[in-house]
Amino acid sequence: MGLQLEFILSKSSKRLSDLHPTVKIAAEKLIINSYKRGVPIVITQGLRTFAEQNALYAQGRFGDKKPVVTNAKAGESFHNYGVAIDFALLLPDGKNVSWDMQRDGDGDRQCDWLEVVEEAKKLGFLWGGDWINFKDSPHFEMTFGLTIKDFQSGKRPPIVKESIKEDEDNMPLPLNDYEWKMLNGIWSQRYNKGEITDWKWIDKIRCKQLNAGELAFLNAVIAAKKDCLSVEAESAGM
Ligand SMILES: [Zn+2]
Repeated sequence: MGLQLEFILSKSSKRLSDLHPTVKIAAEKLIINSYKRGVPIVITQGLRTFAEQNALYAQGRFGDKKPVVTNAKAGESFHNYGVAIDFALLLPDGKNVSWDMQRDGDGDRQCDWLEVVEEAKKLGFLWGGDWINFKDSPHFEMTFGLTIKDFQSGKRPPIVKESIKEDEDNMPLPLNDYEWKMLNGIWSQRYNKGEITDWKWIDKIRCKQLNAGELAFLNAVIAAKKDCLSVEAESAGM
């Protein structure tokens, strides 16, 4: 048994708390979706204050011997506006992290790093690894089409209110036409036999709107009736 999701989320919670609300939700989803693919990650950088940015800019400059890590001064990085994150792979000990882009910790023959990149792009993040000049592989940003200049002049992305709990359960089932037809056949027969009594379910299937939660509910009703449990009309209370 690997690391628990709650533990993994807690490792990043401090770094997430000051992000732009919309980006925060996306970053949490990224941690969750990466976890579901067997790749625990930790967010190593979220919001970076102007002072922190200037300190970082000074690294490798003005006589400092360390390598240069950024070309951005205060206000010139998307991190300064809470719309960028950096990540690293969280190792099985739950403490150490890795920036090894070849690592395949879950043994699925896909580099963990690129699995995370794939999930991030699905959520609408841009990846620093795609940049031509200054490749920044741990970096994602969600800028909503705004430039640094826009941010500097006070523009901000919209706040999207959305729970991270919202998931596939509330989306119509991802079926093709043939599968919807099959589902319609099965549940129409059950309706005709009186195993379910509310036509709205058939309607939903025919409109391709039935979701996973509803299908699970209908299956539970059928299972209960097979067990000869007394079941009220299944539309009650829905
Ligand atoms: Zn970054």
